[in-house]
Amino acid sequence: MVDGTQWTILSLLAWGSKFLEARGFSTPRLDCELLLGHVLGFKRIELYTNFERPVSNVELASLKVLLERRLANEPIAYIIGTKSFMGHSFVVNSDVLIPRCETEILVERVSDYIRQTNLVNPRILEIGVGSGCIGLSLLKEHKDAWLTGIDLSAAAIRVAEKNAARLGLASDRHCFVSGNALLEETWRQIGQSFSIIVSNPPYIADSESEDLPCSVKDYEPHMALFAGDDGLEFYRSLASFGAQVLAPTGRLFVELGYQQGHKVSALFAASAWHSPQLTKDYCGHIRVWDGCHDS
Ligand code: GLN
Repeated sequence: MVDGTQWTILSLLAWGSKFLEARGFSTPRLDCELLLGHVLGFKRIELYTNFERPVSNVELASLKVLLERRLANEPIAYIIGTKSFMGHSFVVNSDVLIPRCETEILVERVSDYIRQTNLVNPRILEIGVGSGCIGLSLLKEHKDAWLTGIDLSAAAIRVAEKNAARLGLASDRHCFVSGNALLEETWRQIGQSFSIIVSNPPYIADSESEDLPCSVKDYEPHMALFAGDDGLEFYRSLASFGAQVLAPTGRLFVELGYQQGHKVSALFAASAWHSPQLTKDYCGHIRVWDGCHDS
């Protein structure tokens, strides 16, 4: 940023995008729009309708601080403090995984199932709520649904509670509990007769940590990412304990890592889960497994 220049939104976006592009960022213009929009309190569309608006030195200084954080690979969602998911804005911080667009496929699959089966007052259990993006989006979509959300992290639960309030959801429709889903004890304490269990559990093998981009490995909570030597430990727990809390006609839905479709299907089949349905993402990878159990 050269001193003495009167920056406008347009010139700053052009400069900032080039700056980030030259440093190897893959979505420089988008990043720049989100950061500048955050500084000015503008939606992206408002940047476009105010291209000639001058940007003050104070605003420039704020943008510079945010750009420096981005240069250190901090994800945009943590810098601006929100992430859009299923058309809603969720508060996020480094205590929670940033909602991913692939996870919308899981939410849509559960939603379709609720509609197709005309489920009334669905009681949903979510394992690993994080920001709450999955369960709370389902509550927004299905006005008679109830959510119990479990997460190991009390800090994550605080974020989920904040999101529930931001989305205007009545506090008697959801309840968040801190607990370790790998322990049978936790499942015994959460009650029974859920119509739906849903989870986007941690599913990265500890050994794959080196392959992750810095923006993920250095910033997102490891407890939300990693799941043992083979990345499957949460699926084992869901397969073993899930049936105990599911209503007789209930169904379990999980998101999978993009290469885990067959392994996870075999794991659930080995624990007597049946009638599986697999849903692919837009790249053709199996992303969601769902099925039921007769116990
Ligand atoms: N349910 C949250 C999400 O999908 C958190 C998942 C996690 O922590 N693994 O974003």
